[in-house]
Amino acid sequence: MTKLILLLQVLRYLFCADGASMNALHAGASMSMLQLRPRGFPCFVSGSQDRRRRRALSTTLATTHERNRQREIKNVAIVGGGLAGLSTAWHLLELSSNPLQVTIYDRCMVGNGGASAVAGGLMHPFSPKGKLIHFGLEALEKSKHLVQVATKYQPSCLIQPHLYRIALNEVNVQQLQDAALKYSELAIWLSRGEINNQLGADSMGGLKLSNGCQVIHVPGYLQALWEACENEAKEINGSITWEMSRLNDATSVRLLDMNYDAVIYAAGAGIIQDNLLDDVALPVQLIRGQSLLMNLSEQIDSIQQNEALLCGKYVAPLPSVDNSSSSQMSPGKRQFIIGATHEFKSTKLTQNEVFEELKQRSYQLAPKLWDHGVVQNVTSGMRMQSNRGKYGRMPIIGRITNLKAGNSQTKSWVFAGLSSRGLIYHGLFGCWLAEAVLRDDEQVLSQYFEEFDWWKSNNKS
Ligand SMILES: Cc1cc2nc3c(=O)[nH]c(=O)nc-3n(C[C@H](O)[C@H](O)[C@H](O)COP(=O)(O)OP(=O)(O)OC[C@H]3O[C@@H](n4cnc5c(N)ncnc54)[C@H](O)[C@@H]3O)c2cc1C
Repeated sequence: MTKLILLLQVLRYLFCADGASMNALHAGASMSMLQLRPRGFPCFVSGSQDRRRRRALSTTLATTHERNRQREIKNVAIVGGGLAGLSTAWHLLELSSNPLQVTIYDRCMVGNGGASAVAGGLMHPFSPKGKLIHFGLEALEKSKHLVQVATKYQPSCLIQPHLYRIALNEVNVQQLQDAALKYSELAIWLSRGEINNQLGADSMGGLKLSNGCQVIHVPGYLQALWEACENEAKEINGSITWEMSRLNDATSVRLLDMNYDAVIYAAGAGIIQDNLLDDVALPVQLIRGQSLLMNLSEQIDSIQQNEALLCGKYVAPLPSVDNSSSSQMSPGKRQFIIGATHEFKSTKLTQNEVFEELKQRSYQLAPKLWDHGVVQNVTSGMRMQSNRGKYGRMPIIGRITNLKAGNSQTKSWVFAGLSSRGLIYHGLFGCWLAEAVLRDDEQVLSQYFEEFDWWKSNNKS
């Protein structure tokens, strides 16, 4: 008992926790049965899954549910409140019918941390070659739904309900035209003349992507998602708390593990940089991305000012000054983000180098912007890029096993490796993970994605 009190005091010190959130640590685990809200199989996207898979899941969940009915998840910690962490939090609260308590530990305020705070905001399910990424359509549906939820709280986080992927050479033209034929509900081919006249780009044509493909102001979106989480928590008489605190070693991590029913590591590059999971070798690489925030010095063609164009590098509008939380915006000026570098070396490119590289690779997309824009700021963030596997670069989700204790299961889960696909994948993988955590059963994930544990092959003893 004395040890427990001591432990709680250490935790309070480490995380600057206030009384309210410490109550979450004390919450005991009564043995009432786990209940997911009665909405069928929550993480299936209607219309996009075959019936056989649904039936298989139905049988398996019935048995795992029976097996796990003794253990109720009441109290969850999430380390990292970016796209991964907040999507998981929202789904946990949405799926649980019990008064779940969720605490997010983040070193920054909502919408200000990690890669999410500096993302370009482009959401679509296509690879640069115009191929649909694995689970692309299901992921689009889920993320689209989350954006709909968020816009109820902050409509301005949706900047444009479409974006353009531009072809700059013949090979690209062929690839993108194929995509338009195959996925006509999402992609329309526009000729060189149409693109160049409408958008002022110097291109060989391109795709207009819509029907869920969109441009998001990610910091605003995360703030809206946070509000949505607070609302979901109220509905189930639960709670959600944001603890501004940086976890920076394996000891603080273990303390969390002892005080929650489940701990989800969703701290992006922070997982590696702050050594949060020292036992686990994640198959990832950290890649820095720097972008330019540009102001327009004078009025240019009004359509071009508001459109997002992509061809590897991208140009995307930011919300108007009135709606933005960024204190660095100058009133009366339109702002754009031009991004982003892919830096593999530990030494950061200088601001001049960033400018030169991005200008070389994106001038054709927006010549007027480059000619009339003034650089206001350079932002920088780390992508956590997962290694390429059979299905491309897939996110990492699952339970952490303790190698030292002979691969035994722990209460810790991970959601990482969103690479450059945070927006498209955060909804679907967040939903799957939330369901597995609430059921305290990792095998739930295999019903959705058979090879979800591909990343564990690195960690086999
Ligand atoms: C320049 C750039 C542009 C991008 N553009 C796009 C785009 O247009 N579309 C797209 O889909 N994706 C884009 N991405 C990728 C996208 O941003 C990421 O996939 C996504 O944000 C990852 O989300 P995450 O929640 O996993 O990690 P993060 O966003 O990095 O969030 C991690 C959170 O954990 C917190 N944290 C970290 N360490 C600790 C710690 N030790 N203790 C407590 N808290 C901690 C951080 O403060 C942060 O809030 C871009 C990435 C970059 C870098």
